[in-house]
Amino acid sequence: MTPQKTRSPSSPRRPSRANRDFRDRAKHSTRATDNQNTRSVVHVGDAIAQPGITLKTGREKSLLRRHPWIFSGAIERVDGAPVSGDTLPVCDAAGNFLAWAAYNPDSQITARVWSWRKEENIDAGFFHNRIAKALSARRELKLADNSNGMRLIHAESDGLPGLIADRYGDVLVMQIGSAGPERWRDTLADILQDLCKPVCIYERSDSDSRALEGLELRNGVLRGALPDNVAITENGLRFSVDVEAGQKTGFYLDQRDNRALTETLAHDKDVLNCFCYTGGFSLYALRGGAKSVLSIDASSDALRIAAENLANNGLDAAALTRCCTKSRQSTIQQAGCGIVTEASGAGEAAPHSLLPEEFTHTPKNAGKAEWLCADVFQALRALRDQGRKFDLIILDPPKFAPTAAFAEKAARGYKDINLLAFKLLRPGGLLCTYSCSGGISEDLFQKIIAGAALDAGVDAQIVHHLHASADHPVLLSFPEGAYLKGLVLRVA
Ligand code: SAH
Repeated sequence: MTPQKTRSPSSPRRPSRANRDFRDRAKHSTRATDNQNTRSVVHVGDAIAQPGITLKTGREKSLLRRHPWIFSGAIERVDGAPVSGDTLPVCDAAGNFLAWAAYNPDSQITARVWSWRKEENIDAGFFHNRIAKALSARRELKLADNSNGMRLIHAESDGLPGLIADRYGDVLVMQIGSAGPERWRDTLADILQDLCKPVCIYERSDSDSRALEGLELRNGVLRGALPDNVAITENGLRFSVDVEAGQKTGFYLDQRDNRALTETLAHDKDVLNCFCYTGGFSLYALRGGAKSVLSIDASSDALRIAAENLANNGLDAAALTRCCTKSRQSTIQQAGCGIVTEASGAGEAAPHSLLPEEFTHTPKNAGKAEWLCADVFQALRALRDQGRKFDLIILDPPKFAPTAAFAEKAARGYKDINLLAFKLLRPGGLLCTYSCSGGISEDLFQKIIAGAALDAGVDAQIVHHLHASADHPVLLSFPEGAYLKGLVLRVA
């Protein structure tokens, strides 16, 4: 029998603030709309009539374009007495059938489309087909050839709104973000168990966005038993994955291809990896022959796993992790990884304005990799003040703008870190910069970066436009699915 994982007292059931789904990209990012803050009252129609949704005149247009969301403001009336999770027919004002959708009276997205076909039955067979299709698409695209970590179901874009399933080796993590899949949770787990035969299905339905759907947070084993250690091998690199308390479902699978690209760019470079999480980009850069890699994250939990990943891959036996909160430091030994210095306060960003003095001093036994537990906004300033320079900088921050309503504030954040990064680059240096904010379009992101380069006084060329990996497909009729955008820029 697979041993059940026990949690240490220092490892909270709920992720710490810094660990809590900073970038629950897929779901938060899918909420970009002007309707966001204005919840309209849905008119309840005939309570004894057949349950169903009737749209206001002219509000069927987005559905005719196959966008799968129905906002409360578009609804004329809801007949019958449906409850959250029920499947309802949606009709235009003239009574013409448009779609079958999962109803949620507690959400601004009052219904999400399951199917456009009138003759479809939304039942276990329907879900079996949709899941099987998602799996076979990934097989046909050969997405498992170089990694046993993969997104198997990407919600709306795989025709299953609100459902995410990620594979980490023999373990599946299921995340439910809306009322439809919440209703079908057991059926969905059974189908995944049947089709994928994992040793465990773990549920991470604990993202903050569930509150917007009126759903309770849930985190725990759904099927089987969770092995002590969950890990994936991605392009030959082994990464531990904390499915219980790590960010998202445990790992940023969406950056798989972009991490691989980093490896090809890193040879002989001094690399700075900001918002490094468990060290993904850092390990690829090291394997690609980087001269040095400084990695920064605010989460000490993530950095602990990063150090473990480094050691497990034999990339650097003498890495050093440092933290900026000198006053709150505790020191623990970590096998094979030198000193790991951890901030108290459950991985929160360290409140400091300067890096500690010893940060500037490189100990004799330090390897190529250095880990820093710090707030990137402050650390970048400190590095600038110290006159540090790099050849390759990666900026992969958490989601600053879940919706368009946050775009302006987010734009300031993106500009700030990118401007600082441009200043830290040597001539000819590369900046790999990302945004996973649904509220920031690709266009806007490019404009922000252009503004940052201008203010930093550098000329830069775009050498790559980047997106999420192919296991995160984007349904053409659902542009919100394209939340992750990235640019690789070369400064003159
Ligand atoms: N690049 C990573 C994913 C980054 S996710 C990968 O490929 O795996 C974003 C990370 O930013 C998280 O690890 C989170 O802990 C960290 N973070 C959030 N706010 C931060 C801040 N102000 N300073 C430093 N790190 C921060």
